Amino acid sequence: MSTSAPITQDVMTIPRKMPEGGKINLIGLTRDQLREVLIANGTKEKQAKMRVGQIWQWIYQWGVRDFHEMTNLAKAYRAELEETFEIALPEVVTRQVSEDGTRKYLVRIAGGHEVEVVYIPEDGRGTLCISSQVGCTLTCSFCHTGTQKLVRNLTAGEIIGQLMVARDDLDEWPVPGEAKDETRLLSNIVLMGMGEPLYNFDNVRDAMKIAMDPEGISLSRRRITLSTSGVVPEIARTAEEIGCLLAISFHATTDDVRDMLVPINKRWKIDDLLQALSDYPKVSNSERITFEYVMLDGVNDSDEDAHRLIDHIKRYNIPAKINLIPFNEWPGAPYKRSSNNRIRAFANIIYQAGYASPIRKTRGEDIMAACGQLKSATERARKSRKQIEAEAGVAQG
Ligand code: SF4
Repeated sequence: MSTSAPITQDVMTIPRKMPEGGKINLIGLTRDQLREVLIANGTKEKQAKMRVGQIWQWIYQWGVRDFHEMTNLAKAYRAELEETFEIALPEVVTRQVSEDGTRKYLVRIAGGHEVEVVYIPEDGRGTLCISSQVGCTLTCSFCHTGTQKLVRNLTAGEIIGQLMVARDDLDEWPVPGEAKDETRLLSNIVLMGMGEPLYNFDNVRDAMKIAMDPEGISLSRRRITLSTSGVVPEIARTAEEIGCLLAISFHATTDDVRDMLVPINKRWKIDDLLQALSDYPKVSNSERITFEYVMLDGVNDSDEDAHRLIDHIKRYNIPAKINLIPFNEWPGAPYKRSSNNRIRAFANIIYQAGYASPIRKTRGEDIMAACGQLKSATERARKSRKQIEAEAGVAQG
């Protein structure tokens, strides 16, 4: 590969040389990519590894955005860096705080596109729900994001940038020389925002590797959960190349119903998916797979569904927990939430069978931050469910 060739990263290429009138953004580059662009722009090869380590720590451990604050680098070198590079995060367009403390950020990325990011504080932990696509490749019929056509994948910089924006807002960057406070306000990441992360694998992987890097943000892989609707060929790769916990947007116990709720099921049926989960290299009793199950009134919430769900999991002997999600309605949604009694009855059947069946507390509903409600404001007015179906020619079951 010629040295002047740009480094490809799915939707965007990272120029080795400073683009016309622009600077190279260092956010989202892997250590190898950072080393390459430093050398391509004048850093001596034999010093490059050390420089990568120093710059990496300033950006991802201390949250520094100004090269001049990187005091273990020579002044002249800092000035050189500033000539060619920048440390730029997505822009926060709006920041909403719910009565229950949930925070929703609308962030703008290159091209003026917007994605939503949600921070959910709980006792002893704080979870950030981040997005991997603008819109979504898929059109799950219970999901608001699914009514927004895929605009593009996010780059690794735009994915890790969501975490850094939230840390800024939570003022959670440690200060060099000060004792490290081990308690974290942002302790967990869930890739459950907008988009199907496994249809943007490389960028999601690179961003999560940055989040897990011990000389930077240093988030444990067991505090990162990737949720997929069932892109079967990429499931094992997730274990091998990311190593995080896995959640499945399962939501139905028959292929007919799942075809309607999660159309990717037409590509990989329930049995294909369950087989991939039972083969998931990282699965164990301490690292169970989370089955996400949205509770839709009269659609997927019967006792038979609960028993069938247990049979599926037992048949493939998958260490699992079932997360029941009371459906969060959105404008034009074709479903209703199951009643609380029905949800409790469903949870009880699963619990009696020996599986944890927590009912997800709805958070941030007053700011449309609850699960399945995300859709970038600008797009919100664009497309109704009917329009998408008319375009997609998908008959509503
Ligand atoms: S549930 Fe996930 S995969 Fe399905 S449309 Fe929504 S964001 Fe996309």
